Amino acid sequence: MRNFLYRFRESFMRFMYGRYGGDELSRTMVYAGLALLILSYLPFLRFLNICSWILFLWAYFRMFSKNIYKRQQELSKYYKIRGKLFRKFSTYKQVHTDKTHRYFKCKSCGTYSRVPKGKGKIRITCKKCGAQMIKRT
Ligand SMILES: [Zn+2]
Repeated sequence: MRNFLYRFRESFMRFMYGRYGGDELSRTMVYAGLALLILSYLPFLRFLNICSWILFLWAYFRMFSKNIYKRQQELSKYYKIRGKLFRKFSTYKQVHTDKTHRYFKCKSCGTYSRVPKGKGKIRITCKKCGAQMIKRT
């Protein structure tokens, strides 16, 4: 039995040699797939069942893929998107929890300007693109 397990492990390792293996993106896809699978038990969310299987298959495809370069590119793209989402979320949190400042989004470049509250009507100059707006704080 031990010998069998050893040989199984050995042949699995040989199978995985030169393949990409698991990474953070695959792991996230499996977790997301599990979450969708659980949600799909709700009667009006049955279609999520298919989505979860697509995620599982895609995650396994990536693990066993031999095109390592392409998989690494997907991973770095994933990190970039995740970083962007994380930054967006932390900006949102800051804008909605800061009680002493107000935040105005620049109409031309999207940068937030932070100004102290209670200063009346003021002219705000965007520090990134120089656009001006007049707002009440
Ligand atoms: Zn701007």
